[in-house]
Amino acid sequence: MRILVSGASVAGPVLAYWLRRYGFTPTVVERAPTLRKTGGHAVDLFKPAVEIVERMGAWPRILEHRTGTDLITMAGDRIKRPIDVETSRLTKVMSDRHVEIMRDDLSEILYDTVKGEVEYLFDDSITGLRDDGDGVDVTFERTPGRRFDLVIGADGLHSNVRRLTFGEESRHTAYIGSYLGVISLPNHLNLDGRMMVYSGVGRMAGVYGARRLGEARAIFMFRSAAELDYHHRDIPRQKELLIRHFADLPWDQAPRLIKEIDRATTFYFDSITQVRMDTWSQGRITLAGDAGYSPGPAVGGGTSLAAVGAYVLAGQLAAAGGDHRRAFPAYEAEMAEFVRHSRAFGLRTAKTIIPDTGTRAWALAQSVRLINTLPGGLVRFALKLSRSGSGPHNDFPIRDYTPANPVRP
Ligand SMILES: Cc1cc2nc3c(=O)[nH]c(=O)nc-3n(C[C@H](O)[C@H](O)[C@H](O)COP(=O)(O)OP(=O)(O)OC[C@H]3O[C@@H](n4cnc5c(N)ncnc54)[C@H](O)[C@@H]3O)c2cc1C
Repeated sequence: MRILVSGASVAGPVLAYWLRRYGFTPTVVERAPTLRKTGGHAVDLFKPAVEIVERMGAWPRILEHRTGTDLITMAGDRIKRPIDVETSRLTKVMSDRHVEIMRDDLSEILYDTVKGEVEYLFDDSITGLRDDGDGVDVTFERTPGRRFDLVIGADGLHSNVRRLTFGEESRHTAYIGSYLGVISLPNHLNLDGRMMVYSGVGRMAGVYGARRLGEARAIFMFRSAAELDYHHRDIPRQKELLIRHFADLPWDQAPRLIKEIDRATTFYFDSITQVRMDTWSQGRITLAGDAGYSPGPAVGGGTSLAAVGAYVLAGQLAAAGGDHRRAFPAYEAEMAEFVRHSRAFGLRTAKTIIPDTGTRAWALAQSVRLINTLPGGLVRFALKLSRSGSGPHNDFPIRDYTPANPVRP
């Protein structure tokens, strides 16, 4: 069975590996001309995703490439003296196992697990999908048209496959009231294994060393009740908006970070938006990762969710012998609770890390202090009582879907 996967970041290569392993013939189409090497941003793999990459044989290299952010120093509007907190104390609240890695390093390591065994079409994009019930006719920007048995959109928050199949993006996304910016900058503070954060009312900024890139990343998040007016390709306007929201941040690191916004070579700016769809599948086409159920960038553990979703989708296809009419509903049912939890978690995280009042900013500082002093088990217990525990990011069971009779390629 020939399966086209659009997107080669996290969900895409995990799908490619497991589909191939189960005897399908995946092809991956990626819009970028090559694997991206700019580093992107730091992302998290929690326990279920760690188990998946272990099964793919990728864990030792992922460990080698981890960012190693061990310590966070937090200053803020309601913090008299900066608080140092070990990152592991924060991540243990979420999950027993965790690694942080730059997204581009992760993509490359995942890609290497199938390199030479799976066809990759770089520098290309799907322009048309026609599902006639027996297969999908696909047209591309560059590659001549082809027919596939199934098509999977793993092409992120602004998914092309989702737009072509389900219609305009705005019908399937929900703005959750905040914006996110990330820039690259020289590691002028020589941060190694450390992140410095300033938490203000309605905004937060942070800077961390991206060890393997020899530079640093600054992250900015702010609240905005209304969506801002800018074009997604108008970088100067996006930089201007970011500068405007942080120009008067009362943090000694802020002037340098703000100066770097203008000259940043790597720049990301977007609203924090969730993808909310009742179903991610239509006929022979389905979605995986951010494309189908992004819980919002940087707030909901989207990377682990993408890896797990891709693994479950490939597994359900194998279990159903390639019958998408059984596999797609089973995939959606198996992921439903994880997706719901991640959405709720994303909303809560955005509210917590960008507090909207002085009282909430104070409460955030107190929580960080508490996490720093209480034994990990007690913190987890307290979170469980307040119903904001880690849930599937720790507990999602990673099943073995290896079929007794693998599908013939
Ligand atoms: C600034 C930022 C910070 C983040 N921080 C964290 C974090 O701390 N922890 C965490 O877990 N997650 C974080 N995330 C979220 C995380 O990056 C995503 O949840 C995760 O990368 C989703 O993986 P994915 O494969 O579904 O999609 P993506 O990683 O978005 O990949 C989509 C892929 O599809 C490709 N593509 C796009 N359009 C097309 C097209 N038309 N044709 C072909 N290919 C296409 C893209 O080039 C890309 O390779 C962050 C996200 C951002 C933006």
